[in-house]
Amino acid sequence: MKKDIHAHENILDFVGNTPLIKLKKISQGLKGNFYAKVEAFNPGHSSKDRIALHIIEEAERRGILKPGSIIVETTSGNTGFSIAMVSIIKGYKCILAVSSKSSKDKIDMLQAMGAKVYVCPANVAADDPRSYYSVAQSIHNETPGSVYINQYFNELNIDAHYQTTGPEIWEQTNGQITHLVACSGTGGTISGTARFLKEQNPNVRILGVDAYGSVLKKFHETNEFDANEIYPYRVEGMGKNLIPTATDFKVIDEFIKVTDEDAAYTAREISKTEGIFVGYTSGAAFQAVRQFANEEEFTEDSNVVVIFPDHGSRYMSKIYSDDWMREQGFLTNENVTESQIQYVE
Ligand code: PMP
Repeated sequence: MKKDIHAHENILDFVGNTPLIKLKKISQGLKGNFYAKVEAFNPGHSSKDRIALHIIEEAERRGILKPGSIIVETTSGNTGFSIAMVSIIKGYKCILAVSSKSSKDKIDMLQAMGAKVYVCPANVAADDPRSYYSVAQSIHNETPGSVYINQYFNELNIDAHYQTTGPEIWEQTNGQITHLVACSGTGGTISGTARFLKEQNPNVRILGVDAYGSVLKKFHETNEFDANEIYPYRVEGMGKNLIPTATDFKVIDEFIKVTDEDAAYTAREISKTEGIFVGYTSGAAFQAVRQFANEEEFTEDSNVVVIFPDHGSRYMSKIYSDDWMREQGFLTNENVTESQIQYVE
């Protein structure tokens, strides 16, 4: 008799259900218990697999997508990778407009996953015709039958996390989570997860992480869009120069800003101390934890869940390159680490 072969239908079976991992070393000296929701365990190595799959399957259910349809998106890289991956399995074409701030690794990866990529200048206004928003919109307008994912303004971005990330964290913590710390870019992750958690327990504190050079924190506090807050910064995927409707500001209790330098150092430190090879914004998220701890946000009983959005391999030419760190002024002769690479002749 033939035995069953235990194989998955395709890679998309692995989207979501990422592990919650206790942080032991990096959290030493802080009051409370700290857990990382490690989104790099998704098959596309970031939290964006969740929204790509959810939004594409919803468009299929609504009859919008047909075999061979074109999917268009603006993306700092991760969403594009996830859309490209889902498109391969489901038979769609993928066209992406990315910011020139995105790492070369990310852009090359999109091409490797079969996507067509437009690289657009990073430091122009969102309504400039060269911005990645404008470029994606005009490709969509000029391509009949295309679908524009529009993650910054798509309620389904929030819904993807409301349906998956939120329930997973609630279950993994047995309802004992007291704080969620998450970076905000489109805001989909923090908003959807928070909406679900607050419905279970309105006392869960939702702490957002923003970048210096972004408008989100000030908008949350004053309801004012202040263009003076905007200037170029290094960290990719978080903070924004516009107000995304995929952010539900009501469910976020507080925002904090972290510097590019602190985020970069903390990411390197997480990798070296916890053995979890994390991306730049994971460093930002844990740096925010430290700053909130300084403000006495946590007690010994706090159960703090920190979202680590993606994998360190995407940043080899950035935060994990000493040359890049030095170019940013982050590594000086005093704090440079001795190279651990030796060439055997
Ligand atoms: N970190 C990284 C690396 C990202 O790519 C993103 C998405 N832009 C985020 C954090 C923020 O997630 P969200 O867009 O759901 O707010």
